Amino acid sequence: MLSNLAVRDVETLVHPYTNLATFREQGPLVIERGEGIYVYDTAGKPYIEGLAGLWCTSLGFANAELVEAAREQMAKLPFSQIFAGRSHDPAIALGEKLKEIAPAAISKVFFCSSGSEANDTQVKLVWYMNNALGRPAKKKIISRIKAYHGVTIASASLTGLTANHADFDLPIANILHTACPHHYRFAEAGESEEAFATRLAAELEEMILREGPETVAAFIAEPVMGAGGVIVPPRTYFPKIQAVLERYDVMMIADEVICGFGRLGTLFGSTALDIRPDSISVAKALSSAYLPIGAVMIPERMYQAMLDESRKIGTFGHGYTYSGHPVAAAVALKTLEIYERDDIVGHAARVAVPFQRRLKALAEHPLIGEARGMGLVGALEIVADKASKAPYPTAKGVGARCTALALEEGLIVRNLGDSVALCPPLIITEAQVDDMFDRLTRALDGTRDWIAAG
Ligand code: PMP
Repeated sequence: MLSNLAVRDVETLVHPYTNLATFREQGPLVIERGEGIYVYDTAGKPYIEGLAGLWCTSLGFANAELVEAAREQMAKLPFSQIFAGRSHDPAIALGEKLKEIAPAAISKVFFCSSGSEANDTQVKLVWYMNNALGRPAKKKIISRIKAYHGVTIASASLTGLTANHADFDLPIANILHTACPHHYRFAEAGESEEAFATRLAAELEEMILREGPETVAAFIAEPVMGAGGVIVPPRTYFPKIQAVLERYDVMMIADEVICGFGRLGTLFGSTALDIRPDSISVAKALSSAYLPIGAVMIPERMYQAMLDESRKIGTFGHGYTYSGHPVAAAVALKTLEIYERDDIVGHAARVAVPFQRRLKALAEHPLIGEARGMGLVGALEIVADKASKAPYPTAKGVGARCTALALEEGLIVRNLGDSVALCPPLIITEAQVDDMFDRLTRALDGTRDWIAAG
């Protein structure tokens, strides 16, 4: 029986990333408020937000300082544009701060409101730069199977998941996908992690040579893949990939939309995974998701090319109404201040130890084929047979069953197919980590019983 709110929802909204058919019967879980790592539904039931919203509310809910930063800026100047020679203090200060903490030599910062917009901007800047440099053929961007980079036309094309392409006539031209660095799923029999990483780098090189290096402009990667299933690459994967990119003058774009700002126990995921990015996308935890904001961090070489082009053609013709939105920028600045002042990254790195210990211990659970993760993000992949790694039939919906049982236990997690993802707010304590895994273990046991009952 759906509640009144749920009925109004079903009659009114098209929900993102939702099975529109089953949703009509099941209706939504309506969340009303949040506090710390918990959110509460309309009946007042608390849940541990085990996915930090959508991998984003790093400082948890009801952070009074963020609310106050928004209130102050909203009262002072709720909006002002930064098009065509206008500016304001929050955008300038946030840009400076991002340059200061970036894991690469960054020349300039371009603001937008989301991860998708950041990655769309990356595509456009790569194309714009190469036109400016007089090499208009160098336009292809290589992404990876199972990558997640967003849902706008260019960013959805970069995304390497079939649900984001099927029936949308995507990907667009000039976007290619190379192999996914998931050893558990894609290594050949007996292949070590090292040999797997070597093979993937060789496959990337073959792709670049096949396409013609003069046509390949950039490679984009999340340090740890998120929505594709929380995939941690082999240790030497990125150094090997990076060596190939350098041979053919192919830019490395790091999509730090999930990994940025402490998720992996380092300020940026690039540092943890030995990536030397040329250009970087951020969003989500930049403002702890209190307001939508994203950014592209641009290297000097790209900026100089853009500057030259602008000298020739005039206006740099790209920008969003909400680029550098003053209230979003003020909240992001406050967020970064709190990360630094309270050593949130150090805290995340410390709590990551028991988090990963509890996560990896679940590899022993009869349903789990692989327990993987890094820092404060992880996933548990449910399989029908541990030895062969065979999955359950998709239609059985085992992952969805597990997340539904977790909800009953008062835990919000997300299933990506039959992988159950965890990505709690970075402020989570060790005791709360234990509580979260106790609830998840009960949900897994319940899933096992449900399967056994046929
Ligand atoms: N890149 C990554 C790595 C992401 O995880 C996401 C969102 N899950 C995006 C880009 C897209 O961000 P948004 O949903 O804010 O457009």
